[in-house]
Amino acid sequence: MLQNRAVFEAKTALQAKDDQRIWFLFRGEELLVRDQEGQRATPWVGPLPASFETRDELALGVLDGKPAFACIVSDDAIAPEGTRFSPLRPLHALLDASAFDAASLGAQLVYFARHYRFCARCAHPLEAVADSRVRRCTSCAHEWYPRVSPCAIVLIHHDDRLLMTRQARYPAGMYGLVAGFVEPNESVEACAAREALEECGARVRDVRYFGSQPWPFPHQLMVGFIAEYDGGELIVDRGELEDARWFSRDALPTLPPPVSIARKMIDAWSRGDFER
Ligand SMILES: [Zn+2]
Repeated sequence: MLQNRAVFEAKTALQAKDDQRIWFLFRGEELLVRDQEGQRATPWVGPLPASFETRDELALGVLDGKPAFACIVSDDAIAPEGTRFSPLRPLHALLDASAFDAASLGAQLVYFARHYRFCARCAHPLEAVADSRVRRCTSCAHEWYPRVSPCAIVLIHHDDRLLMTRQARYPAGMYGLVAGFVEPNESVEACAAREALEECGARVRDVRYFGSQPWPFPHQLMVGFIAEYDGGELIVDRGELEDARWFSRDALPTLPPPVSIARKMIDAWSRGDFER
């Protein structure tokens, strides 16, 4: 498990042995991994490849007893033999859980370093602050924190049916759950109810917390709820969705991948976890 509170420990360890470090090396949004027998993948361990130009070395914490870091490599970096650059999402099935967790943190911090380069108050450059996630303005000293965007995702059920939605960008045949970004001054529960109404015309009741999940694409926090349908004609918001419809338990469409909280909620519902 990644102990990501151990930033200081990891910083100290950076002074230590080169061959003990674990590196999450991002070229754009792709991560360098070494394939292990085609079924598993691991991050880079040891001294950085000599050909790589790197910047923004960020301490992630301690992973499996070793200090773990993320950094940005130049866009023209070529993966050393036996390794490759991969988008993060498919790596969920290949990295072990703690490594994926560290990669997910690394992806969000690297995104922050790449996209928050100048102060939004005074337009001067930002710089990293030692032993912190903060980036500080070199002129006005304002401190900017990595952005996290909360989203509500809600499983809406009624009798033996599930209300599911489909966005145009989904793989063919896949349906997910109602979801959307929390607005300023809105509770996550209120967001879940609002999105149900806006996306599908559905009123909901008994909105109950299920769990939450960081979602590093690029920096969401998905907060999951279970809700009962409480009326309302199904009206699909075609601006946001390609389709929305009810599916019965024994005829579900293609589901979101196991990495997602949507899938965890659907699986729990399929098992009957939310029946009264
Ligand atoms: Zn400033």
